Amino acid sequence: MVTLRHFFARAREGQLTGVRCEKCGELAIPPKALCPACGERAWQPVPLAGEGTIASFTVIRVAPRAWAAEAPYAVAVVKLKEGVSLLGRVVDIPLEKLAIGLPVRFRPLIRDEQTSVGFGPA
Ligand SMILES: [Zn+2]
Repeated sequence: MVTLRHFFARAREGQLTGVRCEKCGELAIPPKALCPACGERAWQPVPLAGEGTIASFTVIRVAPRAWAAEAPYAVAVVKLKEGVSLLGRVVDIPLEKLAIGLPVRFRPLIRDEQTSVGFGPA
């Protein structure tokens, strides 16, 4: 069973992990309880390369308090080369360089006990 806790523990080490449905082959990230395609619970973990391109992005200028000092920053939906998409925060790429199709690479964003998904230059 691949849980969100497992997903973030692996992400913290720099490894993105998706899940593939044994019944229908659907790939999902982050892990979900049931396959959205066939409704089964037959996930197997799949390591992902962490490489992809920006599918869409939004610049956050007014951030939640915890991130206020870092605004403005961008969050992007990244289409991974395995075909699934994942939302993450963009780091180390100037906002004016952001573009649909820009290659990026997964990077864990670690703050104390919390790990979140980030994407930096490919
Ligand atoms: Zn399925």
